[in-house]
Amino acid sequence: MAAHDAVEVILAKRDKHELTDSQIDWVIDAYTRGEVADEQMSALAMAILLNGMNRTEIARWTAAMIASGERMDYSTLSRPTADTHSTGGVGDKITLPLAPACGVAVPQLSGRGLGHTGGTLDKLESVPGWRAALSNEEMFAILEDVGAVICAAGDGLAPADKKLYALRDVTGTVEAIPLIASSIMSKKIAEGTGALVLDVKVGSGAFMKDLATARELAETMVALGTDAGVHTVALLTDMATPLGLTAGNAIEVAESVEVLAGGGPADVVELTLALAREMLAGAGRDDVDPADKLADGSAMDAWKAMIRAQGGDPDAALPEAKESHVVAAPASGTLTRLDAMAVGLAAWRLGAGRARKEDPVQAGAGVVWHARPGDEVTEGEPLFTLLTDEPERFDRALASLEGGYDFGDGAGFTRGEIVLDRIS
Ligand code: URA
Repeated sequence: MAAHDAVEVILAKRDKHELTDSQIDWVIDAYTRGEVADEQMSALAMAILLNGMNRTEIARWTAAMIASGERMDYSTLSRPTADTHSTGGVGDKITLPLAPACGVAVPQLSGRGLGHTGGTLDKLESVPGWRAALSNEEMFAILEDVGAVICAAGDGLAPADKKLYALRDVTGTVEAIPLIASSIMSKKIAEGTGALVLDVKVGSGAFMKDLATARELAETMVALGTDAGVHTVALLTDMATPLGLTAGNAIEVAESVEVLAGGGPADVVELTLALAREMLAGAGRDDVDPADKLADGSAMDAWKAMIRAQGGDPDAALPEAKESHVVAAPASGTLTRLDAMAVGLAAWRLGAGRARKEDPVQAGAGVVWHARPGDEVTEGEPLFTLLTDEPERFDRALASLEGGYDFGDGAGFTRGEIVLDRIS
């Protein structure tokens, strides 16, 4: 590999030049090995955030991050693989019912939550006994036997991204489309899935607040996946309103189990089915209808087998918060708005999420809302239930809900679509 100099690469991007393949390969490799210092990579990340990268640079950057670690290969499995990735939202428990509802092999390498958006592993860890860490051999065996596995990404997968993502988190350089797209897609391509469905969230509770930026991110990721030979589709979905009726850990598992039992909130069911149909189509199995799997109990059977295979007891009672606080509806009328960011912040402040990677989360903490936009509410009836083990957290959670919802007479109210667009 040709040798470069970190300052030369930083200056090139600072001065708005296209980085060469050789510069990109070198800087990712040297940073992973510790030869490029954190302060140099921070400067380069900021230059990329300010000046962007073109598609050629993003593709090379992604390939270099994949090459920094191992690449999984499921070609010897007896069924096709399909996976999903959500860019993160509030009440976004969709992965939990989705993985077992599909029927193809779903090798989901997931993460923990940071900030107001929840993490799939944090939710699953509220199931007694369940463990996130699996060896590659265990993962492969569960995929073959059960068809779905959700576990922590090992250290061997895109180590350059692990280091770079932690650095971006503390240097104000997370929100750069080239860096987000290459970060997500390097992990998903290295993970080895045959088909990938991206759920790109749009709205107050999402990374991407507006449709135009979400579309740009989705198009960039779909192009990266397609060029790498992964059948990739993105759905742009609403995250102005939180999903379902719960945001937290154990309470989101309970809501997912309702969906697997054939019930659950309509929006969670709708999005689960929309994503499952895309995953099945991507894996060449559009003869399978995931709605049948929810209705006939086979998705529930797969969920229980998936939980048991990772040491969990799917029939055990889920942990409950020690304290609760009910917020009553201040007026009668139609709930016309419920803000995802307000609810996400409240759940986070109650202890469901973490501020730093090493913080613990509370399994029972979170927010339950008793109405969704469009529903009628009666003054004095419960509107929210706040849950935590530490009652001193209630005040700050209540403050974040202030201004987060509106009432009206319902005239002219229409519920917005959940799926806003599809990019392929
Ligand atoms: N998720 C990731 O994995 N990477 C990003 O950069 C943003 C969200």
